[in-house]
Amino acid sequence: MLGQADHQHRTKIIQGRYPWPTRIERVLPMLEVHGVFKSYATPQGPLPVLQGVDLTLKPGSSLALMGESGSGKSTLLHLIAGLDKVDRGSIRSGEHQLERMTEGQLAHWRRTEIGLVFQQFNLIGSLRVVDNLAFQARLAGRHDPRWQAHLVQRLGLGELLERYPEQLSGGQQQRVALGRALASKPQLLLADEPTGSLDETTSGEVLKLLLELLDDSPTTLLMVTHSPSVAARLAEKVVLHGGRLAAVDAR
Ligand code: ADP
Ligand code: MG
Repeated sequence: MLGQADHQHRTKIIQGRYPWPTRIERVLPMLEVHGVFKSYATPQGPLPVLQGVDLTLKPGSSLALMGESGSGKSTLLHLIAGLDKVDRGSIRSGEHQLERMTEGQLAHWRRTEIGLVFQQFNLIGSLRVVDNLAFQARLAGRHDPRWQAHLVQRLGLGELLERYPEQLSGGQQQRVALGRALASKPQLLLADEPTGSLDETTSGEVLKLLLELLDDSPTTLLMVTHSPSVAARLAEKVVLHGGRLAAVDAR
């Protein structure tokens, strides 16, 4: 991964080519998670999952979220995406304080500012690849055919544009899911084990593409990954353990 200064330099060039929506408040952290608690109701009583999570991410940075299966990584990503509510604590993304927003405001914010890539690709089966790619960007009023063409070229999707998702391999579907998330020029890309269902070779290729594409954009990345070699390519690493985050600095 490029250093912060290199990244800013490159994104300046790229942004000139494919204009990115400007943030109102450049000085604010992209993401600020403070004292977040979350438990689930189970027949055996409440299951505490997050027990005081704190996290700050600067615009343009990248973070690998690691931790054992069941440690609460997906729970945290869902909260950050506004798909679920915290029990206690606060989550702010730029100027948006999530717990003060209505469902409608959250949906609009997700559409316009957030890119989601989850393990299940959630492509729309009735739409061709080309329309899947443009779907969120169109909803966000931000469809940029030149940027989409750039993504298609970088992701090697040129031959697949007229196909439907069921006519694609797992790796191809995951590349489309990445393209779709980036096509709307999100401020924040949340990826939950984006290659978890792919074989090791395909997974490596998809991750390499993701990291290359991030060099082309000012998007901030938060990615759940089990791979130390992937994590090493991101600017920061944290591990979720016992309901809290700890920094990982061994490289
Ligand atoms: P990870 O993504 O790190 O594997 P998760 O966030 O998916 O972990 O889950 C954390 C814990 O919360 C697990 O023990 C899981 O079984 C439990 N859990 C997740 N979602 C729910 C839910 N909707 N209801 C009850 N328990 C849940
Ligand atoms: Mg998970």
